Amino acid sequence: MLIRINIMAIIPITVYGDKILRQKAQSVKAVSDELIGKIRNMFDTMRNAKGIGLAANQVGFRESLFLVDLQGIEGYEKFKPLVLINPEIILHSDEVSVMEEGCLSLPSIRVDVERAEKIKVRFINTDEKEEEIEADDLLARVILHEYDHLIGKMIPDRVAEDVKKQLSKELSNIMNREIEIDYPITKG
Ligand code: ZN
Repeated sequence: MLIRINIMAIIPITVYGDKILRQKAQSVKAVSDELIGKIRNMFDTMRNAKGIGLAANQVGFRESLFLVDLQGIEGYEKFKPLVLINPEIILHSDEVSVMEEGCLSLPSIRVDVERAEKIKVRFINTDEKEEEIEADDLLARVILHEYDHLIGKMIPDRVAEDVKKQLSKELSNIMNREIEIDYPITKG
């Protein structure tokens, strides 16, 4: 008899102040079994934290890849979870939109961020095939947010100076782990 055991692997999420969140991701050379295992653990971690996107450096990995899963959002129930490896944003619309964003690495913070309304992204999938996706609205936003993580950027880098100033107390609370959250984060 074959017994398959699925072990959930939840990895502590890196938070604002952790150095890896400021480092550029490294291009993936091959989609190895080890990488597939990491991706599976990232999905477990993202779902446990009820996130809709997760970049590799948010769980301490250096690879250039992120996940997007909008299934839990109204209107996106049929969304097929995406794994974008070595993504490149190849087109941005001039048209922008403003939407409130949060980030698993910035617990408790929600802030309006302006981003391109439409994008085109090129990446490789887990079968090592190149794909291109045109996205708008929430999907474009999540992709741009996650892509930012891979170049070491986060929400506070995308808002005006005065808005960033208003966030400074919350940011230092996060860095000092003076926050209550219901998913594991790094110890700092
Ligand atoms: Zn984020």
